[in-house]
Amino acid sequence: MSGAGIPLVDLKAQHAEIAEEVAAGFARVIADTAFILGPQVRAFEEEFARFCGLPHCVGDTFIASALGVVRAGARPVIVDCDEHQLLAPGRIEAVIGPRTRAVLPVHLFGQMADMEAVAALAEARGLAVIEDGAQSQGARRNGRPAGSFGVAAAVSFYPGKNIGAYGDAGAVVTSSEEIAGRLRKLRNWGSEIKYHHPEIGFNSRLDTLQAVVLSAKLKRLETWNEARRRAAARYDELLAGVPGVELPKTLPGNEHVWHLYVVRVARRDEVLAKLNAEGIGAGIHYPVPLHLHGALSDLGYREGDFPMAEKAAAEILSLPMYPHLTPEQQERVAAALKRAVAG
Ligand SMILES: *Cc1c(COP(=O)(O)O)cnc(C)c1O
Repeated sequence: MSGAGIPLVDLKAQHAEIAEEVAAGFARVIADTAFILGPQVRAFEEEFARFCGLPHCVGDTFIASALGVVRAGARPVIVDCDEHQLLAPGRIEAVIGPRTRAVLPVHLFGQMADMEAVAALAEARGLAVIEDGAQSQGARRNGRPAGSFGVAAAVSFYPGKNIGAYGDAGAVVTSSEEIAGRLRKLRNWGSEIKYHHPEIGFNSRLDTLQAVVLSAKLKRLETWNEARRRAAARYDELLAGVPGVELPKTLPGNEHVWHLYVVRVARRDEVLAKLNAEGIGAGIHYPVPLHLHGALSDLGYREGDFPMAEKAAAEILSLPMYPHLTPEQQERVAAALKRAVAG
């Protein structure tokens, strides 16, 4: 088998598609020296809110699921995932306590959990739903976009995400005008009017240059997500019935955006090493389950507490997945994977 390596994510191919638009946009921002919260930021926020089917988007660079909860001064309570590594609604009830305020489902790999069940339970128990939409830009469930089930959704524009910046960036989308207004202040050191700080905020502004990149990519997001769906269907075909390879499933009602295509295999580390040795950029998302990170050791969880998550962490293998992945590249990935699991 010859040819160049196949990366896990190909950002160069994406850049080639938008290069001219980005260069022209950068030139404009630089000429205007509008680096901080320039008009391109608001323009992107409006475009992205419209794309999400929600009234507000606040460009931000801060929130990550469990640590975001800790930083907010709250205590995250972890529940085990289901076999798709999504929030299992049936496990929530048992961990609701008198101080529980919110449920935070993570739309992992590009599809949503059973959000109707999550939202109904949250409503019945008076809890807010805050969605982690970092991997689900453009995903829908029974026609509803990610971010529309809860009071707000955090979206990451980390470079490798379905829509990624050329550096760090993120946003919060929400249907609440109150939350949007508060976030606009908080992200700018608590200030709405320059040099007036009625409350303590932080520096979490979206760069104008990043807004230019994000606007260029947003125009192509539906097309790129469609290309990801075709690539996922092609992997499904190429790998159907291969002994020892469990394929990912799309839950009924979900429009998946395939941020990652994650299979399960036994002796995963061996299989991964063989693929990498052949120049195939397979990876693991994620090798350590949440509850076993040192950063969360104060929560008192131990190995064995979340068997589904721990089993997943030992078996999952992310195959190369990006909009510009070609059928030939996928055939090479599939052939290499078959060899790796067979021997
Ligand atoms: C990428 C990611 C984040 C964090 O995004 P940052 O932009 O690094 O803050 C949070 N949650 C999930 C599920 C992610 O994939």
